[in-house]
Amino acid sequence: MRDDNEYDIIINGGGPVGVGLAIELAQRGHSIAVIERYPEPQPVPKGQNLTQRTMESIRRWGCEDALRAARTIPAGKGIGGLTCYGTLLSDYHYDWLQRELVRPYYATDNERLPQYATERVLRARAAELPGIRTFHGWAGESFAQDDDGVSVTMREHRGDAVAELRGRFLVGSDGSNSMVREVAGITETRRDHDKKMVLLVFRSTELHALLERYPGKAFYNVLHPDLKGYWMFFGRVDLGSTWFFHAPVPLDTTKDNFDFAGYLHRAVGAEFAVEFEYVGFWDLRIAVANDYRKGRAFIAGDAAHSHPPYGGYGINTGFEDARNLGWKLAAALEGWAGPGLIDSYDAERRPVFESTARDFIENFIEEDRDFLDTYHPERDRAAFEAAWAARAEGAPEVNSFEPNYRGSPIVPGSDTGRPSAQGGHSFEARAGHHLAPQPLSDGRAMFDAMGPGFTLLALDADEDDVRAFEDAAAATGVTLTVLRDSAADGRAAYGARLILVRPDEFVAWAGDSATDANAIIRTAIGH
Ligand SMILES: Cc1cc2nc3c(=O)[nH]c(=O)nc-3n(C[C@H](O)[C@H](O)[C@H](O)COP(=O)(O)OP(=O)(O)OC[C@H]3O[C@@H](n4cnc5c(N)ncnc54)[C@H](O)[C@@H]3O)c2cc1C
Repeated sequence: MRDDNEYDIIINGGGPVGVGLAIELAQRGHSIAVIERYPEPQPVPKGQNLTQRTMESIRRWGCEDALRAARTIPAGKGIGGLTCYGTLLSDYHYDWLQRELVRPYYATDNERLPQYATERVLRARAAELPGIRTFHGWAGESFAQDDDGVSVTMREHRGDAVAELRGRFLVGSDGSNSMVREVAGITETRRDHDKKMVLLVFRSTELHALLERYPGKAFYNVLHPDLKGYWMFFGRVDLGSTWFFHAPVPLDTTKDNFDFAGYLHRAVGAEFAVEFEYVGFWDLRIAVANDYRKGRAFIAGDAAHSHPPYGGYGINTGFEDARNLGWKLAAALEGWAGPGLIDSYDAERRPVFESTARDFIENFIEEDRDFLDTYHPERDRAAFEAAWAARAEGAPEVNSFEPNYRGSPIVPGSDTGRPSAQGGHSFEARAGHHLAPQPLSDGRAMFDAMGPGFTLLALDADEDDVRAFEDAAAATGVTLTVLRDSAADGRAAYGARLILVRPDEFVAWAGDSATDANAIIRTAIGH
């Protein structure tokens, strides 16, 4: 029986990433304390675009239906993106971030809703799980660790009460000013872009009327030559009245010395009535922690990496941190983790973020800057229109953003390469990559049929090989679910009869015969 103040895991910061991680671990039977400063999610409509991959995790966490019910744009009204040149209403525009192109590689649809609405759904799901105790209105202040665990001191956010919690591990999902990162002494690498950004939340039914010309769109990116590749970004918060906008402003801008309505009108290319609900600022920078772990303390989400919301990578990257770290911490608590398993969290997730920042976010800014410097419709309309049409052609970033763990120390047989956000979607089962799920022949959705541990997909496979994996799992304490099926239908595209899938739905190994099942499983759990 545990003492009331003793938990398997303490999570400091109950934003989306912290609560997602708590659910992941509590569903595996572990006891979790979540310390969160605010009783209610903060009402800033950020973190809206949830990828198909994130929605797989939300489904795994048992709250897909609730999350879809919480959307603020009615189903069927469209949540697509648009890129425009000069102004929002210009004649030059094309579809942007067409996530529907990669839908076949995932188990479920993408979604869009304000982050506070997502957080409410996650909090409600966490409240259903007996393993989670949430300390709302408390802030983690410091911690100390020893050989057996971590002691966290927390203080009432609006009071003086102080209490101490004890856990075997601590995770800081406490945002970009993370206490856990600071106290652990984990340094960051920062790239400042020396840009001040404004975030406006405003109401305007007239803007809604102006944008009826773009049906099915919910977020809009305006490229303007004056802004050197930095975006003026509009997003719908609901369908009809509420919007957010972020864009660069002069460094000395305050709430009182700048004409925000005029800025909006210039960005749109028309005047319209506007009523502000919120004016805030943020500095545009990329920051990544130099380590995601210090002893028994880990960091995840914005605590580990922060960047401008260009392309919707923030919350989605944070949720993937939670999926990656969750099963590894569970393995450590349950005694089946090899000595390298929890270190593989840093080895896999940190290079993926570095690649996301370099190859996607900063690359967007540079490519847009080069384009805007090179082409101008008034200088050479024909050249501009040809280059604009080429940009509109495809959405290469949607296909090539495919975070993968090739070369990870726990991916057997993929010792070349390095974990990266750059990849390419494929139905083939490739070690280190997300598995593209296919329906099973009995009609079940593949990911729904998978167990909490590893899963072996045995597609017309030799029973001796299956037994070899079962024996290897039993010998190492790994929970293994075997899904036997034919290699017909879409499953033939996997190109392998045996596919070992990790608890986070990434392929650990794929092949036709188990030459050394023991070594494969041992490597996959960090031996
Ligand atoms: C304008 C804007 C738009 C964005 N749009 C997108 C988008 O479309 N898609 C996307 O993927 N991302 C987007 N992002 C980024 C996204 O919002 C973040 O990546 C996301 O919030 C990270 O979640 P988190 O849980 O790691 O951190 P946070 O959301 O920052 O949560 C941290 C939590 O920890 C709590 N906390 C902090 N310190 C303590 C303490 N000492 N003790 C207790 N609690 C503490 C805080 O109260 C908070 O609840 C956007 C960001 C902005 C600013």
